[in-house]
Amino acid sequence: MSKRIIKHWIDGVATSGEGKQRGPVFNPATGFQIGEVTFAERSDVDKAVTAAKKAFETWGNSSLVHRQKIMFAFRELVAARKLDIAREVSTEHGKTLDDSLGEVQRGLEVIEFACNIAHLLKGEYSEQVSRGLDTYTIRRPLGVVAGITPFNFPVMVPMWMYPIAIACGNTFVLKPSEQDPSVSQLVAEMFAEAGLPNGVFNVLHGDKVAVDALLEHPDVAAISFVGSTPIARHVYEAGTRNGKRVQALGGAKNHMVILPDADMELAADSAVSAGYGSAGERCMAISVIVTVNDAADYLIPKIQKRMTTLKVAPSTEEDAQIGPLITRKHRDQVASYVNAGVNEGATLVVDGRDLEIEGHEEGFFIGPTLFDNVNPSMSIYKDEIFGPVLSVVRVDSYEKAIGLINKNRWGNGTAVFTNDGGAAHKFKNEIQVGMVGINVPIPVPLSFHSFGGWKESLFGSHAIYGPDGVHFYTRHKVVISRWPDPIYRGIDLGFLSHDQRGKS
Ligand code: NAD
Repeated sequence: MSKRIIKHWIDGVATSGEGKQRGPVFNPATGFQIGEVTFAERSDVDKAVTAAKKAFETWGNSSLVHRQKIMFAFRELVAARKLDIAREVSTEHGKTLDDSLGEVQRGLEVIEFACNIAHLLKGEYSEQVSRGLDTYTIRRPLGVVAGITPFNFPVMVPMWMYPIAIACGNTFVLKPSEQDPSVSQLVAEMFAEAGLPNGVFNVLHGDKVAVDALLEHPDVAAISFVGSTPIARHVYEAGTRNGKRVQALGGAKNHMVILPDADMELAADSAVSAGYGSAGERCMAISVIVTVNDAADYLIPKIQKRMTTLKVAPSTEEDAQIGPLITRKHRDQVASYVNAGVNEGATLVVDGRDLEIEGHEEGFFIGPTLFDNVNPSMSIYKDEIFGPVLSVVRVDSYEKAIGLINKNRWGNGTAVFTNDGGAAHKFKNEIQVGMVGINVPIPVPLSFHSFGGWKESLFGSHAIYGPDGVHFYTRHKVVISRWPDPIYRGIDLGFLSHDQRGKS
């Protein structure tokens, strides 16, 4: 079978660019290489940024109504072709079709939020702040902005960024993950079909070379990044050093606290869904269950029972619930964490390492795995595994559960399961995490709120999409205006207003 070549999209044209380097793209369910993605050189980055800069001259001054109309047309195309997009995601990422459809839906909701841009960009106006003096604020686009995104949500995470950026009047350069790049081409074609002018949305594929060139390019005004913590830190430090506005979302280790009074059936359903959904390759996946007092004795058998019913299979099978991991290397790394957990003395309750899928022996599969008696000094607790591995940490007080989470270096998402309103209230107030669920395992806000963690899960002062998205992609300008009136004439070297001098 011939391999597809995945190209950049610059100024409305698919192009291989000038780079000689290419990276392999796999179907993780079969383990076979299905494509090759072209990697951008600095010269390609320069071409894309130059095209975006040129397009900004017109797009940045286009009417709100025009931008909204294009966003509505794009929304219709994405909604109509949901299934095509989802299939593309499942083929290169490996997640189930149902999960891919969910990802498209969540992205679509951000596009819908951006369709409302005319309302979102309304400024503020204060009339007569002093006699004859009005003050108003407006929000202007930044110029060329770039998005650098991870493999685990190849369509949704870019959609957290570019619909809002573009609706605000910016032009955009996307550098998606090189591991599942094809869906970005599909999106670029749909944007063009929706009437977006050339150069407003560009896609560059590649690795560190492309990312660093974007971070250093003088015509890139802002960078949105989502990915692992070490790269988020690098992007934040290099981007801000070069004078750019940066929001960089990093990795996670999400804890779910189970109090003894919790609804254990609900808690077990939630732990399995949030721990093993998308094979644990979600930044909001639960990876640690913190049980208080004897809660583990009730919870673990219920989780175990549910795990026997899970179907790990390729996304082409209709009843698949968990797909493969993204690469063989990552699959082997997850397996090595399971080995380390055993060696470090955790109790392996369910072992997914030996799973084989008939007909897909070369696929990057690993089965759901459950550990009990994990302690915070073990590598399975300390590191982000990003696979279907759940660790149970037992503690003997609620205070200790909260203390454990607050000590963790990440603070993306967390949840508490309890029927006690006071305990939930305490959790909400005291927990040092950006997104908090109360009897909700994956507390991801819809598009009209913003998404973002604390600590090493987010570098920068803006969360992503929602109102923070609008603020990130615009800068505020304040205008103070007065129309000449004879009473204000005359030299005044002071700092007091007319009213403060007791004149009216
Ligand atoms: P990654 O950090 O390896 O890659 C992210 C992006 O950075 C990719 O586009 C990649 O090409 C680029 N990149 C990789 N190495 C680089 C380097 N040395 N210099 C410059 N750029 C580089 O992340 P990933 O493996 O694709 O995604 C998984 C990670 O993303 C996990 O840690 C997960 O928690 C995190 N994630 C976080 C969120 C969030 O909202 N906080 C959401 C999704 C994923």
